[in-house]
Amino acid sequence: MSYPRLALKPTRERSLINKHPWVFSGGVLKMPNIENGTIVEVVDAKNNILGYGFFSDKSQITCRMFHFGKLAEGQFFDQSYWFKFFENAYNRRKTIIDFSTTNCYRLIHAEGDFLPGLVVDIYDKVAVVQILIKGIENLKNVIVSNLKSLGFEYVYFKNKTGAQNAEQISLVSGWLTKPFIGNIIAKENNVKFAIDIENGQKTGFFIDQRDNRAELGKIAKGKRILNCFSYSGGFSMYALLNEASEVHSVDISALAAQECNENAILNNVEDKHQAFAEDCFEYLRHKATGYDVIVLDPPAFAKNVRSVPNATKGYKDINLLAFKHINKGGLVFTYSCSQHISRDLFQKIIFGAALDSGRNVQIIKHLNQSSDHPISIFHPEGDYLKGLLLYVE
Ligand code: SAH
Repeated sequence: MSYPRLALKPTRERSLINKHPWVFSGGVLKMPNIENGTIVEVVDAKNNILGYGFFSDKSQITCRMFHFGKLAEGQFFDQSYWFKFFENAYNRRKTIIDFSTTNCYRLIHAEGDFLPGLVVDIYDKVAVVQILIKGIENLKNVIVSNLKSLGFEYVYFKNKTGAQNAEQISLVSGWLTKPFIGNIIAKENNVKFAIDIENGQKTGFFIDQRDNRAELGKIAKGKRILNCFSYSGGFSMYALLNEASEVHSVDISALAAQECNENAILNNVEDKHQAFAEDCFEYLRHKATGYDVIVLDPPAFAKNVRSVPNATKGYKDINLLAFKHINKGGLVFTYSCSQHISRDLFQKIIFGAALDSGRNVQIIKHLNQSSDHPISIFHPEGDYLKGLLLYVE
């Protein structure tokens, strides 16, 4: 079996030799006339094979690599080839997650698991698949069958807004297997969450904050806590189950606030909890007094490079307000999930906010995305979620 060739300009092979998975359009010698999503054999200007990837005809990233180096004699990309990615990713999760207390985790994290364009999140028996490129959509049946082989009988395809335009991916979310009937209740470190995969944000839950929620749990006892941008109350439930004296969840979405309340009931901690459907900027400005701990986990303010200046202002504002109002000796858990805001820039923004607030602020810990959102060492762009635990004197 042979694959169409994609030749690079001289010297443009360097990043691929370093196993970086992206081929940018500027590095391509001549655009081949092939269908979007085709698997291509990538060669350098002297026709040496560098590896194989998925071709995207309209993206700035012309090709996303999933295999580096030559194929062995007679080898091709069949079902068993793809199964290895699933099996390896599952084995990695098994070594880092205690499945007896957690049945909600990311099984495949795209480039982080060496398979660009594919995200798979697990909620108990249900696997939710997000497809970001056409090449992965072409493998839909293989994906379903590999998930079934791992024991996931129910597979749901969740359309990711925005991805379909350039990549011409199907818009229709829906079951790829028989549907799961009933409520999906996921367990994360034994904390229960009702998951609405169809109407919820992302695949239904922000799994990437699991380890950080556990960090909050460690210090929550006896504290009055404000959880800003709470969504369905992930941080709030950990705080309540760890004996916080009172927890307030704030999210602009009324549905999210309702889900917070439902999750509090599910965990039997509704007594000390209240949810507010409000704008966090306003809440922080006018009502954020008397809290010992404030969590700031906003949506990605910088969706692209152009929006970095505005995003910087947004991050600075919420952190400044939290520093101004928090109790003496308070703790702030602050995050940015914008890929385009580096750790360095994020810390500079927090520095500016601390200075303007007039409070003394110390970094207690650097925080990251959960361990089931690995970052390939060859693809540092995968390090998107950064956070700081801060002590405010
Ligand atoms: N911390 C959450 C995830 C937060 S995602 C968790 O652990 O699950 C970001 C949330 O911010 C979304 O639920 C979104 O509805 C909310 N949001 C966006 N803009 C907002 C605003 N201005 N004020 C309050 N909430 C906002």
